[in-house]
Amino acid sequence: MTALIGALPDPVMLLDDHGVVKSANGKARDLLNMDPEGQHLSSAIRAPQILEAMQAVLAHGGTRRVDYEQHVPLPRHFEAYVAAVAAFEPGVSVLILLKDLTREQQTERMRADFVAHASHELRTPLASLLGFIETLQGAARKDEVSRERFLVLMQTQAERMKRLIDDLLSLSRIEMNAHERPTGTADLRQIALHVRDTLSGLAKDADVEIRIEGAEPLIVQGDWDELVQVVQNLVENAIKYAAGGKLIEVTGKRIGEECELTVRDHGPGIAEEHLPRLTERFYRISAQESRSRGGTGLGLAIVKHILNRHRAKLRIQSELGVGSSFTIRVPAVSAESK
Ligand code: ADP
Repeated sequence: MTALIGALPDPVMLLDDHGVVKSANGKARDLLNMDPEGQHLSSAIRAPQILEAMQAVLAHGGTRRVDYEQHVPLPRHFEAYVAAVAAFEPGVSVLILLKDLTREQQTERMRADFVAHASHELRTPLASLLGFIETLQGAARKDEVSRERFLVLMQTQAERMKRLIDDLLSLSRIEMNAHERPTGTADLRQIALHVRDTLSGLAKDADVEIRIEGAEPLIVQGDWDELVQVVQNLVENAIKYAAGGKLIEVTGKRIGEECELTVRDHGPGIAEEHLPRLTERFYRISAQESRSRGGTGLGLAIVKHILNRHRAKLRIQSELGVGSSFTIRVPAVSAESK
C-alpha cells in the first residue's frame, strides 16, 4: 500500500481506525511540510471538516468529499476525498486523497474575468449606439446637421465594436492552434518593410518616421501573416502612444540561432510596475487613452500568444521620458532545415 500511494501524483494518507496516520506519500509530506506518520490526523492537518469526514466514514463506511483550503505559504484549494478502505490491509481503515484544484480555479476565474471584460467592452459602444438611434428617432429626427454629426459618431462606435470582435476572433484562432508549431518560413526584415508600407498612412498622419535598420535577411521558422500581426501591433502601438517621439526604429539582427527584431520609440515610456502586466488581456495603462486611440487592450495579448506558438520571446524595456523598446526573438531557420 505504501509503495502504491508513493506512486500517486496527489497527496495521499492512510489512517487507522483511531485516525492515526499510518502512511503518507511524498506529496502529502511536501504539502503538510512534515512527516505525519504516527500522528493523529488533527495534528497533521488543521481542517475540522476533514476530521468530521473521517469520523463519518469510520462510523458508516462509504466516501466523503470536502473542501480544504491552505493559506500559507501560498493560497491553495483542495478537494479532500475521504474513503473507508477496511478490506485492504490490517490497521488501515481510511484513505485521504487531496486533489489540488488551485490551477483549475484560477483558469476558471480568468475565463470568467475575460468574459466579463469582453462583454463590458462591447456593451459600452453598443449603449452609445442605442442612445444615438433613440435621439435620431426623437429629438434630432428632422435636424439634418445633427443627423450628419450623429452618423459620424455612430460609425466611430460601430468601428470600435468591429475592432474588438476582430481582435477577439484573432485571439481565439491563435489559441486554437497554440500547440501546433508553425511550419513555414518568413523573413523578419521583409515583414518590417511590409508593415512600414501598411502603416505609412497612419505614420504620416501622426508625423512620425518609421526607420528600418539592418540589411541582412532574417529567416525564421514561422507564419508570415501571424508575424506581420506581431510587428504591426508593436509599430502601431509606437505610433499610437509615442508619436511625439517623431522616430520609430525597427532594427533586426541575427543572434546565434535566433533572430531579433526591436521596435523602439522615443515616446513617454512606461512605468516599470506596468511592464509585467502589459501582455494581459485588456490591461491598459489608461483605458481612456487607449480607447481614444482606437485600442482594444488586446494587441499585446495577441502578440504574446503568437510568439508562444512560435517558441519566441518578447522583451519589453522602457524608461519614463526616454521611450520604450519591444524586442521579439524568434528561432532562426537552421541550416539543415533550409
Ligand atoms: P491597446 O489596444 O490598448 O493598444 P495593447 O495590448 O496593444 O492594447 O497595449 C496595452 C497598453 O500598453 C496600451 O493601452 C498602452 O497603455 C501601453 N503601451 C503599449 N505600447 C506602448 C508604447 N510603445 N508606449 C507607451 N505605452 C504603450
